[in-house]
Parts: sequence; C-alpha cells; structure tokens
Amino acid sequence: KSKAIIIGAGIAGIASAIRMAVKGYEVDIFEANTYSGGKLTEINLNGFRFDAGPSLFTMPQYVDELFKIANKNPSDYFEYDQLEEICRYFYEDGLRLTSKADLEQFAQEIQEKTNSKAQEITRFLKKSETIYKITHKVFLERSLHKLRSYLHFDTIKSIFSFGKIDAFRTQNKANEVFFKDPRIVQLFNRYATYNGSNPYQAPATLNIIPHFEYHFGAFLPKKGMYSIITALVKLAEDLGVNFYFSQKIDEIIYSEDKKFKVKGVKVNNVILQADVVVSNLDIWFTYKNLLKKIKPPKKLLQQERSSSALIFYWGIKGNYDELGLHNILFTKNYQDEFNAIWKDQIITEDPTIYINITSKHLKSDAPKGCENWFVMINVPANKGQDWDILIKEAKLNIVKKINRVLKTNLENNIICEEILDPRSIESKTGSYQGSLYGNSSNNQFSAFLRHPNFSSKIKNLYFCGGSVHPGGGIPLALLSAKIIDDGIKFE
Ligand code: FAD
Repeated sequence: KSKAIIIGAGIAGIASAIRMAVKGYEVDIFEANTYSGGKLTEINLNGFRFDAGPSLFTMPQYVDELFKIANKNPSDYFEYDQLEEICRYFYEDGLRLTSKADLEQFAQEIQEKTNSKAQEITRFLKKSETIYKITHKVFLERSLHKLRSYLHFDTIKSIFSFGKIDAFRTQNKANEVFFKDPRIVQLFNRYATYNGSNPYQAPATLNIIPHFEYHFGAFLPKKGMYSIITALVKLAEDLGVNFYFSQKIDEIIYSEDKKFKVKGVKVNNVILQADVVVSNLDIWFTYKNLLKKIKPPKKLLQQERSSSALIFYWGIKGNYDELGLHNILFTKNYQDEFNAIWKDQIITEDPTIYINITSKHLKSDAPKGCENWFVMINVPANKGQDWDILIKEAKLNIVKKINRVLKTNLENNIICEEILDPRSIESKTGSYQGSLYGNSSNNQFSAFLRHPNFSSKIKNLYFCGGSVHPGGGIPLALLSAKIIDDGIKFE
C-alpha cells in the first residue's frame, strides 16, 4: 500500500487525510498540538464552552462531500441547522438591522429603516451571483497553476467574462455605487474581513462573499463549530487514518537526484518514509522550517499578510435579549478602523465589535442564566507591536462601546475571561504573524499570487490549508484538499 503523511491536523489536513485514505493510501497525520483542529478549536472555561476560532459556518456541502466520497452518511456523524436569522447589526446612531435567510424580508427592512431601497440589495446580490458563476470553477475549485485547468471550456468562457468580475475598482468604490445609504455600504464592505482584507483596497470581486451567505445560507452545527472537527476525525479514524499528537515535524525529506522527489518527514530525529507528503502548515513556515534548503517563491514573501484578531471569551452573567447568535456593533468610521489596521498597524479607539453567542442556540454552552460571549475585533497582523498595552486599551474601549450601544454595565457581568491575540494565534496554530487567512486579498492579483497546492520543485509534495490556493476560511481550506485530490488523479 502506498503511504501518505499529512503534516498538521487543521481542517484541510484532516480533509486531505480522508481523501488519501479513500484513494487507498495508508495515512498518518502528525500534529504539533495535543488536539486536532488548529484554528478551529474550542475552549472550556468555568462551565462555559466557546468555539475558539471560526464561528460562521458556510458551504456545509464541502464537509458533507467528505462523508459521501467515503460512502458514509453525513448525518450519522454530524448535523447542522440552517439559520433563519443570520446577523444583528447595531449602529451608533441607533439603527438596528437583522439580516435573514429570507432576503426579501431583509431588503424590506433596509428599505423601511434606511435611505436605501430594497432593489439595491437584490441588484447587488445578483452581481454577487454573477461573480460567483464566473469565478468559482476557475479560482476556487481548480488549480490556477496547471495548464490543464485552462483547457476546460468553462475556464475559457470565464476568461472572456472577466470584465464582469469587478476586479478593477475597490470593494468600497463598488458598494458606494450600489447603495445610497452609507450604513448599507458599511454592512456589505464588512465582507472583506471574511478573508482578512481591507474593503478600501481589495477588489470588488470580493463581493462574491455575500453570495455564499445569502444564496447557500449560514449554518450552525448542532453541537457547535468544533463538532465539524470531531466528526471529521471520527470519519478519518473509521477509514484507518492514524493520528499522532504532540508530534512537531522538523523537516520534509526528499531525494536530491536529478529530479527532487519527496521521501518522507523527520520528527524527533527519526525519518519516516512516505510516497506522498501533504503539508497543512502555513506555507510561510513550511518553507522557513521544513524546507530550509528550498528557496521560497519571492512573490510569496512579498505578499501582505491578512489581518489578525483579538478575541475575548467572556462568561457573562445574565441574558441579553437584544443580541442573537451573530452580532455586529459597527464603528462610526470604518475607513479609520481599516487605516488603523493596515496603515498604522494599531487598534482604533472605536473598533467594529463582533459578538458570537452560541448559547443562544446551544443551551449547554453556558450555565443557567448565563451566556458565552465570543467578542472579536479585527487587528493587524503581529509585527511586534506592544500587544499587552494595545489589549488593555482595546478591552476598555470594547466594554465602553458595548455599554453605550446596549445601555448596560457589562464589566459587572463578566464572570470569567480568556484572551486570544495575534501572538497566541501564531504560537497555537503556526500561523505566521497570527494572520487568520494567510495572505490578504488586498490587490486584484492576490488569487494568482497565493502558493499553488503542489511543489514545483519536489514531486509528490502538496500543500493544503488557508494560506495556499484557493485561500482562507473553512470552505476554501476544504477546497484546497479537494484540488490536491483531483491533482493526484492526473499524476
Ligand atoms: P490550521 O487551522 O491553520 O491548522 C494547521 C495545523 O498545523 C495546526 O493544528 C498546527 O498546530 C499544525 N502544525 C503547525 N506546525 C506543525 C508542525 N511542524 N508539525 C505538525 N503540525 C504542525 N473561517 C471561517 O470559515 N469562518 C469563520 O467564522 C472564521 N473565523 C475565524 C476566527 C478566528 C479567530 C480564526 C483564528 C480563524 C477564523 N476562520 C474562519 C479561519 C479558519 O479558521 C481557517 O481558515 C481554517 O481553520 C484554516 O485551516 P487550515 O487547514 O489551514 O489549518
């Protein structure tokens, strides 16, 4: 039996392990942490359970697909619900909006409460759909780095429609044309942050993202986000994949004859042989630590990293009825917030606050009479800022803002706290500078500048995860594993 070694048990590493096992490989997966999931993990604290990383689940069909290719029934492992209510938005001027799966209702609410018309929303989402239709096969589901990808009829068709993907103006510029009310511009600009980018720099092609949320839907696993990982680990184990934890791989080994070919990995000074190696690490660290003798592509090092996050996990006494599962408290000045993140590389005094409360749906996530608040703001990647000071100030500003908008005294209700910041994101998940999504998408060529899913120097070495093609976030990380799977078929 051929042998595959996967380095890293993030979601894409596990997906790759499943795909290789289904192909008939014997698969070992090595993880530096004591647990699987990488960024997608959970925290248990004083009777509260928090999903520590991702909180918004879109495109569950990419998870289901893994069970289906293994001839298993997804619902035997994993169940999720589609959300009727997607997100509650709070503005400092008192405006409150709730986005819903029922788009007509959402568009109507916008028409009633703002200066924007319902048809602006439908027109915008039609454009969003057009961008998706033109790009998804080419940019998301196939390698951009193999000639055969360009020989598909739909690729050629897409190339001729590229004028329609809005790559030559910024997302903010496009949204200012779509929406009359600046608060709705702000609402749709926020989607740039779904991959850690800046709507004032990123191309309007990122307006594809709302299509995922409004057309395919937003979901919540019945047992919380971490159950995506536990279900996939169970599937992998059922397929015979061996997991090894607390095993930090030190080096990728390859033959250095005329043509380089992967031979295995080195861990604790032992060489383990493999026919195929898939690295799920941040590609930056793959080159820096595991492939020291191979020169990384220059364009990889020059790319701007995506933003990071500061998260407070707060056990909260009491119930806040005006909040739902996903909540956004918008800053008064979005441009200032992005300038702080991208130009000054600090945290603005008035950040946009995202509050995720899973106990609204999953009662066992918080003790009776309490709620589990995941409170996140976007912050710059770690360039050595004085985070202790920034975090202290940010906490004061966050509590002040929540008190102002919700008319409460939050500080009296915080029972327990844990914090994740760019430094700990880097140390816990191996993400360079604590970026959440690898490189940013702040210019129109980003899609082409992401690292391919294979090594052009070393045969049978592959790369998956949020830092390589097609990009960050659970759905795209899962697609990276699929692209490798399809690629191996052609070798
Ligand atoms: P990672 O999760 O990056 O895991 C890589 C693994 O490799 C880690 O487990 C690490 O320990 C291991 N590793 C590193 N070095 C070694 C080594 N030398 N040897 C062995 N193992 C090693 N996405 C969404 O879709 N929706 C969201 O709402 C969302 N919100 C987010 C919020 C936060 C706070 C964070 C941090 C991320 C969020 N994301 C979200 C992004 C999403 O979590 C990631 O894109 C995705 O989980 C990345 O998965 P990955 O496969 O790249 O692996």
